[in-house]
Amino acid sequence: MNRTFALVGNPNVGKTSVFNRLTHSSERVGNWHGVTVDKVAKVTKHNSEIEIVDLPGIYSLTAYSMEETVSRDEILSKGYDLIIYICEANNLARNLYLALQLIELDVPFVIVVNMMDELFAKGMNIDAKLLSDRLEVPVTCLSAKNGFDADRLMIEVTEYAEQFTSNKLKLPYIQKLPIWQMREIISNTQNKSSDNELLYYFIKALEGDDYSLNKLSVSQNQRKSITALGNYKEQIAALRYEFIDKITEEVVVTENTKKFKFSTINNKLDKLLLNKYLALPIFLLIMSGIFGITFGLVGKYCTQILTIGKDYLIELLNGVLKGTALLPWMNSLLLYGIIDGACSVLVFLPQIVTLFFFLALLEDSGYISRVAFMTDGIFRKIGLSGRAVFTILTGLGCSASAVTTARGLEDDNTRKKAVMLTPFISCSARLPVYVAISAAFFVERSALIIFGLYLLGISILVLIAAIFQKTKLRSGDGPFIMEMPQYRFPTYERVAQIILSNAKNFVVKVGTVILCFNVIIWVLCNFSFTNGFVEIGEGLSIMEKISGIIAPIFKPLGFGSWKAVTALMSGLIAKEAVISTIVNLGGAQSVFFDQLSALCFMVFTLLYVPCVATIASTYREIGIKWTVFSIVMQLIVAYLTALAVRIVVLAFKNGIFYGLIALAFCIAVVVSFTMVLSIMTKNKRRVRCFSGCNNCNDIQNCCK
Ligand code: GDP
Ligand code: MG
Repeated sequence: MNRTFALVGNPNVGKTSVFNRLTHSSERVGNWHGVTVDKVAKVTKHNSEIEIVDLPGIYSLTAYSMEETVSRDEILSKGYDLIIYICEANNLARNLYLALQLIELDVPFVIVVNMMDELFAKGMNIDAKLLSDRLEVPVTCLSAKNGFDADRLMIEVTEYAEQFTSNKLKLPYIQKLPIWQMREIISNTQNKSSDNELLYYFIKALEGDDYSLNKLSVSQNQRKSITALGNYKEQIAALRYEFIDKITEEVVVTENTKKFKFSTINNKLDKLLLNKYLALPIFLLIMSGIFGITFGLVGKYCTQILTIGKDYLIELLNGVLKGTALLPWMNSLLLYGIIDGACSVLVFLPQIVTLFFFLALLEDSGYISRVAFMTDGIFRKIGLSGRAVFTILTGLGCSASAVTTARGLEDDNTRKKAVMLTPFISCSARLPVYVAISAAFFVERSALIIFGLYLLGISILVLIAAIFQKTKLRSGDGPFIMEMPQYRFPTYERVAQIILSNAKNFVVKVGTVILCFNVIIWVLCNFSFTNGFVEIGEGLSIMEKISGIIAPIFKPLGFGSWKAVTALMSGLIAKEAVISTIVNLGGAQSVFFDQLSALCFMVFTLLYVPCVATIASTYREIGIKWTVFSIVMQLIVAYLTALAVRIVVLAFKNGIFYGLIALAFCIAVVVSFTMVLSIMTKNKRRVRCFSGCNNCNDIQNCCK
């Protein structure tokens, strides 16, 4: 008989880590919010008839964000054979809050207390037997990081699931709630829920949970009667915590006080890394160190050595192929269209690996959560909460997957903005483009130029978000409850997993998408509509004709050549293809005229429309209307920014005075644009307000 067990728990407690061990998989785990945004299901290693579902983390069965809704709906409607409830040993009290709601709901569940290694390190322990007695639910303590006997756990929990009838525990605080009054108020509604289910929905309805009120088909009058019973929202939470505190006091025991004192190291680190004045300089220092090593050191040695090796290989193959009976165009296709194009992207693998190594260290140590915390203030001011920072930081890896993490954002406008703005953060696919072009044009200063490009991406994101705050995309000041994980030594397994999966993705992408696309570009660049095989540069090939039509648009940006346009078009498939196309067309030196045109091209590449995969993710998250809007917006922003960079640099070349005037002019244009936008949208809102709600003029709350 097939059975399905669900892994449920707060965010960041190790659900996915346990899931990976039970099912022998390698789903993404992460020390921050929004890593698992949708459910993932797989059969267990122990028994192929049991399927395990990993659900996004939730704090309560009252859902606020989309991912919380996914989990809540699954728990309430799917009728799982068993819920494996994962707790974090360090935060047992907070974790038990949701466990109590599962008892209220009367579903079969067991408690697994994870991260015991961290509790042991503090000299503390949990009395699993006592906890199990108090809650009348089986309890197991383990550490997913250090490994555990997955088969034994599965045998125990399966046995329990088979003999489960009902949670026997009678929660004492329920007697303090006006349950019988609720029964009276709701008695006339036709509800098919069982008695136990009704009790759960009554409690939730008293908490003001909309989902439960709808489920009970409560009328407006009944809602009023429920409200008249009193404000139970805080009271129920307090009653639950009172009950939990009593239990945790008993079950969490300190065994070694010396070790316990040692745990204050966490607080000391936070005092330093979250210090009001030092936090930002430390962050910038860390990031510039990472960029220095990735693009300076590794870029200089590894990539250069690999490039020399690649050139040697091409020369060698050229000699070999000349001796064969292949036609010249076949030679050219094989050598330049396929091998040179793919290898010229592959040589950047060491830098991709290095960047992901450092990002993995930052993420797994718990530092990224601190970054979200310290930037929360700034991001909140521009309508992107600290939670959105996680999405934005994921964009450093891959824009397409970062966009999906925005699902965890509670407010619709914040979600839309995070999805549309995240592509401004430079993803790892754009890295080879910067490295190759800046190495050709800026040599010694290439690491600085690349760091500057990353900073420019973040600045544009902040600027556009601030502009959006003046429009109907404005979002309010919602509360930001953030999980602050303990500092941890990054695990070897996790770091290796991040590096390997990203390296694999990169190589596979180069070996499939990029390779195929290189061949297409090569054919379009080397064949004409009428004359067959033609030499590049004669103006006859299909690509020269098509790109030649678009090229004048980019003349003001300094790279109005058909070659640059071809490279940009190929970037729509995948950003790595920009560089393989440039190599196909004779290298950066032959595509760009000078340093400035190369710089403007990199700025445009940083900001213009992301690859098709990101566009597809954007469409899934925010629909067609906003996807079209974001594509148009990104193209305009990329064009204007590259133009501004060109104007300002040219002006500075004529003297500092002219440069400053040009800079002031650009800033003035942005400020005036924002002001006009702000006035226009304010007027629009007023008009709607007057007609819709009796002139209340409450723009903030009423006239949305
Ligand atoms: P989820 O959000 O509940 O799915 O949690 P994850 O499985 O993604 O894990 C969150 C973080 O906790 C990751 O950084 C894991 O490496 C870490 N982690 C998971 N299990 C343990 C454990 O037993 N001990 C320690 N020290 N860390 C763990
Ligand atoms: Mg997870």
